[in-house]
Amino acid sequence: MTVSGTVESADPRGPVATLLRDLRSGAEGLSVREAQRRLHVHGPNELPRRGTRRWWKELVRQFTHPLALLLWAAAVLAVVSGATPLSIAILVVIVLNAVLAFVQERHAEHAVEALGQYLPQRAWVIRGGHRHQVPARELVRGDVLLIDEGDRISADARLLSGSIEVDMSALTGESVSVPRGADFVDDASRALDSPVLVFSGTVCTAGSARAVVHSTGARTEIGRIAALSERVHVDESPLERQVRRVAWLIAAVAVAAGVAFLPLGLVAGLTLSTAFVFAIGLLVANVPEGLLPTITLALAVGVRSMAKRGAVVKRLSAVETLGATTVICTDKTGTLTANSMRVVTVRSGLGLCSTESPAEHALVAAVVRCSTADLAGEAVGDPTELALLAHARNAGTDLDTETRDRERLALYRFDPRLKRMSTVDSVGGVVRVHVKGAPEEVLPRCVTTLDEAGTEVPLSEHERASAERVVEEMTARGLRVLAVAHRVWTRGTPQDREQAERDLCLLGVVGLLDPPRPEVAAAVKACHEAGVTVHVVTGDNGRTAAEIARQVGIRVARVIDGEELDALPDRELDRLLGGDAEIVFSRAAPEAKLRIADALRHNGEVVAMTGDGVNDAPALRRADIGVAMGVSGTDVAREAATVVLTDDNFATIVAGVREGRRVFDNVRKFVLYIFAHAVPEVVPFLLFALSGGVIPLPLTVLQILAIDLGTETLPALALGREPAEPGLMTRSPRSRTEGVITKRLLWRAWAVMGGVSALLVLVPFFAVLLNAGWRPGAPVGEGSELHHAYLQATTATFVGIVVCQLGTAFAARTERASLWSVGLTSNRLLLAGIAFEVAFTAALVYLPPLQQVFGTAALPLWVLLLMVPFPLIVWGVDELSRWRLRHKRNAGPS
Ligand code: ADP
Ligand code: MG
Repeated sequence: MTVSGTVESADPRGPVATLLRDLRSGAEGLSVREAQRRLHVHGPNELPRRGTRRWWKELVRQFTHPLALLLWAAAVLAVVSGATPLSIAILVVIVLNAVLAFVQERHAEHAVEALGQYLPQRAWVIRGGHRHQVPARELVRGDVLLIDEGDRISADARLLSGSIEVDMSALTGESVSVPRGADFVDDASRALDSPVLVFSGTVCTAGSARAVVHSTGARTEIGRIAALSERVHVDESPLERQVRRVAWLIAAVAVAAGVAFLPLGLVAGLTLSTAFVFAIGLLVANVPEGLLPTITLALAVGVRSMAKRGAVVKRLSAVETLGATTVICTDKTGTLTANSMRVVTVRSGLGLCSTESPAEHALVAAVVRCSTADLAGEAVGDPTELALLAHARNAGTDLDTETRDRERLALYRFDPRLKRMSTVDSVGGVVRVHVKGAPEEVLPRCVTTLDEAGTEVPLSEHERASAERVVEEMTARGLRVLAVAHRVWTRGTPQDREQAERDLCLLGVVGLLDPPRPEVAAAVKACHEAGVTVHVVTGDNGRTAAEIARQVGIRVARVIDGEELDALPDRELDRLLGGDAEIVFSRAAPEAKLRIADALRHNGEVVAMTGDGVNDAPALRRADIGVAMGVSGTDVAREAATVVLTDDNFATIVAGVREGRRVFDNVRKFVLYIFAHAVPEVVPFLLFALSGGVIPLPLTVLQILAIDLGTETLPALALGREPAEPGLMTRSPRSRTEGVITKRLLWRAWAVMGGVSALLVLVPFFAVLLNAGWRPGAPVGEGSELHHAYLQATTATFVGIVVCQLGTAFAARTERASLWSVGLTSNRLLLAGIAFEVAFTAALVYLPPLQQVFGTAALPLWVLLLMVPFPLIVWGVDELSRWRLRHKRNAGPS
């Protein structure tokens, strides 16, 4: 290994002392100043970004994807058939679309890349002998890293002490945790298999350790892999897949229509080359080439606005899934509640009274020892433990973290399955076990208690019953309850956890208040209105959880505790979760979440499941939407999840659902808008063909292309940014199988808006012709008397279509609600798009050079006036059909 700079090369697999010497570090870590200096010299711990992301490659891709190739083919055909203006127009379509798609995709990419800033990776290090939390990008060689259960490891390092289990799947692809320990014998042939090394990008799934960093950034193992492999694959969402399929279908239809037009045109009396040109024009106009990038952008913009609200979505496709959520399974602590815990009641000693007693002193001493939290400075650790430490400090017992950790002989961490935690400490020469945990777990392990004098006395059945009563009282108030116990060891130290946590002396119980977050009640109400069921899955006591659930408005139909759930057969569970009854799963082990997610998915629900611990990861992956806690969650959970909440707040999940629904709706809106123009474009052609040429062509090919590329794009984009429509959160979730393109959408696009527009645009066309004295069959070709009138007539059809699309744009803004309810001017972007559309059309009609190209002629005022009501009519008919839809829904069940 070659390393430049001031730190010489160091062999991470050599003796620790040599390694530390070579890295010029030690047990105390680097000094803060030295760390800064090294950061300056060696650069940040980041993988090199792939520079200017080969933007030209991306651009080239836009010109070569299949739909673009189809257009190229059309352009070539146009050249071959001698229609130079058409081929140029098609080239313009290709270029414009490619550039637009490129810009949209870059925009989308930036939006997704910016998400990183919402979830900065952090790491704990020892610098200058003290614990510091630093951004992972500031880790340097020689830093002493503290690795804890659930942490992502951010640099390559050599273990100095402790032992852990590591999930190396990021490097090896195998997601089986492997043991790693400072004292293991290193006889592996590959560095990756060395039991004393840990690598950047892997995660610690159990245990804790210290390690010294020997490689950062691009010099890490994963940095080398990243340099080899191509950029991360962006997954295609079901929505995009669906639309891609539809785009192809439409392209096929367009090609078929073009081919079918050839004979029709010939029969109607067109020359072969003219018919050919029309066929190509029809094809080009109806190939929906701009659809996909617009959808990607709409999703990305959705992702960005969700991130701003505190829900960081890691996959674009999650946006639409989130919108279809039917069930939310939520944690209680920290998600429904504020996680600002406070000890409100302590009952200790014989009969669990609330007076001051020796038992209470012992209790306070125990919770101070049995803790991994740190109240000094910026408080770090489990909020439950912080609350206990704060209580102890108020009671006059304070213990600095260094002494606590030094005097600790063993630590059995809080285990969400066992629901208890214990430490073995040597206090003033006496070895004592300190235990705290759920009363159900701790009470059965107690055999004695302390009396008023502080003497250990047997715990009678009567005493035990009264303790249980006290616990019951507290939980009924919604308090989080912990029992505290200890045990003095006279012979050496306990061998294992089971031995340590036996024959305990009950010191008392503590009740902590963790009030619901104020905004959660409204969010739960919103869920109910939106047809989303909320289940609570918690490790806490059933009574406590049910009380909190009720306080936030969850309609608790049943409380099922861990044992009951284990005894429940799968079929029974499916049935229970089948209705819309809301259930509190209490004393649930992390595995329970997996079972619940499975049962719900089996029932066809779309499940959002929250989690924060290492053990929650499988359930987070199994749920449709895994939601991890950004503040209190572990890196493991964050990595397994699809959504990370930066505020841990239940209300944010609901905001995400709302945003997901909005984005999905908006995609529908612009699909609707883009589809609607096909009918008024095609119907005039049919008229021409079916009349056998008696009626002249009402629209020219270049005019069709002008609609496709000039007037439509901006309003369509703007529809993708439409604000949420009223009623969005009072309708039932979309079904999992319901696609973007539904029968109703096609009906609206083609029959309602398209049909009405097609009829309308023929009015000015015939009006202009008839007014000029045209009769069916009269010649309109170049040189004929009626030629100028014919140019005006086709121009009128063109303007008619544009004008009808204005109506369509406003109608498409809502799917069910009335336009009034969203406000005429609430989408500024759309107004701007429409202003552009109108200006562009006016230029085509009135500027002589453009008239030349597009075969337009200036329209007299009366024709324009004739078309003024068109948008109102198109919009009005749709408004009416929406009104009917709302009316029907209100009248009966839908
Ligand atoms: P949740 O996060 O769903 O509220 P937890 O798994 O954190 O549930 O806690 C379950 C139970 O375990 C709590 O009711 C409490 O009695 C006990 N408990 C929680 N945290 C600790 C801890 N740090 N040490 C000991 N016991 C704890
Ligand atoms: Mg918890």
